[in-house]
Amino acid sequence: MGGMGALDMSGSLFSTTLSYLKDVFSSVRSILESCVTAIPYLFSAGENRKEVTEQYPDPISSRTADDLPSRSRGLLFNDIDRCTGCRECEKICPNKSIAIETQSGSDPAKIWVSLFDIDFSKCIFCGLCVEECIPGSLVHTKQYEGAVYVLDDLKASFGRGGVTPEMQARWAANRRTHENEEVGF
Ligand code: SF4
Ligand code: SF4
Repeated sequence: MGGMGALDMSGSLFSTTLSYLKDVFSSVRSILESCVTAIPYLFSAGENRKEVTEQYPDPISSRTADDLPSRSRGLLFNDIDRCTGCRECEKICPNKSIAIETQSGSDPAKIWVSLFDIDFSKCIFCGLCVEECIPGSLVHTKQYEGAVYVLDDLKASFGRGGVTPEMQARWAANRRTHENEEVGF
């Protein structure tokens, strides 16, 4: 019985020592691998040395926003001439960054987008609004430099402005003329 106990104890000691040596070996190997990566950087040489970060703003680099990948999500732009005022972008925006107001326009069949504001202080550049825009008027530009000193300056306005009584009178007169031409007056 005493012999069996001594055998168990020596077996347990052996496996503990083996496990300890494995840990030491693994740690040493990890340190060596880090050195293989880091040392060439230290001496600015070696195949492993490649820049992964860039100084910003970089006074030397000739990179421009156009060098960014085609699907970059920069600041949004809305081509108001193509925007139908459907409000789908406003509805899908998860944090209410888009505000739209519409009125009747010169053509009763078309909506006049008087206000189209995007608040970039709320926008998370998720791109959902762009995906939702069927006419493709709303797009991400590659412009990523949007820093401002005043928070309100983060609001971009693309709307046409409110319809004035003078505009309504002019459009109504144009429609009357057009209708008279059609019936031959
Ligand atoms: S990119 Fe996302 S967060 Fe920004 S306005 Fe569009 S839907 Fe809203
Ligand atoms: S989804 Fe497009 S067309 Fe519709 S309101 Fe928004 S920007 Fe305009």
